[in-house]
Amino acid sequence: MTYFRPNIVAMEGYTPGEQPQGASKFIKLNTNENPYMCSPHVKSAVGRVCQAGLHKYPDPLATAFRVQVCELLKKDLPEVTPEWILCGNGSDDILTIVTRALVDSGDTLRYPNPSYVLYKSLADIQGANIDVVNFQPDWSLDKDFAAPCERLKLAFIANPNSPSGTLVPPEQIAQLADALPCPCLVDEAYVDFADTNCLSLVAKNDKVMVSRTLSKSYALAGLRFGFLVAQPHIIRELVKVKDSYNCDSLAIAAACAAIADQAWFAETRAAILATRARLGESLRSLGFTCVESQANFIWCEHPSHASKQLYQDLKDSGVLVRYMDYAKWGDGLRITVGSDEQIDAFLAILQGLVT
Ligand SMILES: *Cc1c(COP(=O)(O)O)cnc(C)c1O
Repeated sequence: MTYFRPNIVAMEGYTPGEQPQGASKFIKLNTNENPYMCSPHVKSAVGRVCQAGLHKYPDPLATAFRVQVCELLKKDLPEVTPEWILCGNGSDDILTIVTRALVDSGDTLRYPNPSYVLYKSLADIQGANIDVVNFQPDWSLDKDFAAPCERLKLAFIANPNSPSGTLVPPEQIAQLADALPCPCLVDEAYVDFADTNCLSLVAKNDKVMVSRTLSKSYALAGLRFGFLVAQPHIIRELVKVKDSYNCDSLAIAAACAAIADQAWFAETRAAILATRARLGESLRSLGFTCVESQANFIWCEHPSHASKQLYQDLKDSGVLVRYMDYAKWGDGLRITVGSDEQIDAFLAILQGLVT
């Protein structure tokens, strides 16, 4: 006897990467956090909100942020106005809102494999079916991804993808979205580390939605702020599904301060891209096979050392990386691009393990 809906009892639940709490000595390269401290303007903005007091509810739509982010998005999406933006408590909140609004029990949600493991949990919570389409060996998606399917209501594409770090070109996403019988959410959690993005598609096709987060490229994973870009008639329906006050006053002020500091953004982004290039070269020189990454992590495996054992040996030596094992695909290690010091320490330990 259980009190719970059968699909909740049956589901496994999403397991995030390990987050050792307190003063941990681990070099943490397992959850794609930014190694740098966020813009100093964030702290002052949060301080000002505390000074003014927290007794009032926040703006339900976080309009200060919506207005401000339009300035940043305009170069890719000239049509954008605040009515095209929905803010969330991290972009996971955005994914939850979209799934709840579009996918009913017995409906189908499609996503590629291997990709972000949370997509399955979101389907499970709805009691929905999943249709998992494998990436091609070159990490492209063929037209099977747009094939018709009974009760298909939503498709997710992480782009750049996790764990591969690969990017499906926007032209191909546009073709898939045109052919799909349902909306397609392009999860751009890592797009700030890539060469291109899918924002322009949102104006051309109301089935395309793009989600972004401040967790990775703005170093604010602990703050929880993300947003969705979609046509205004789509946003209007999604607003009905969100919690009334899904973004708190501190997060809204902090997010505004973060995106206002584009000098901080450009500098840390450049540092991460330089370290990514160096990490890729070093892994290859140690014999690893690496996928070329457009994100702040690298997916790799070693031809003569099992990924799971390497994960454990690294952990025993004080380095956390992410070991992933995907059904109908295989396993590997996802290494976050940390600071130069972290990556140097990691490489020194890894060298001892594989040579
Ligand atoms: C990290 C991540 C997110 C969301 O992160 P939030 O912290 O909830 O904004 C979404 N999608 C992918 C693929 C991610 O890796």
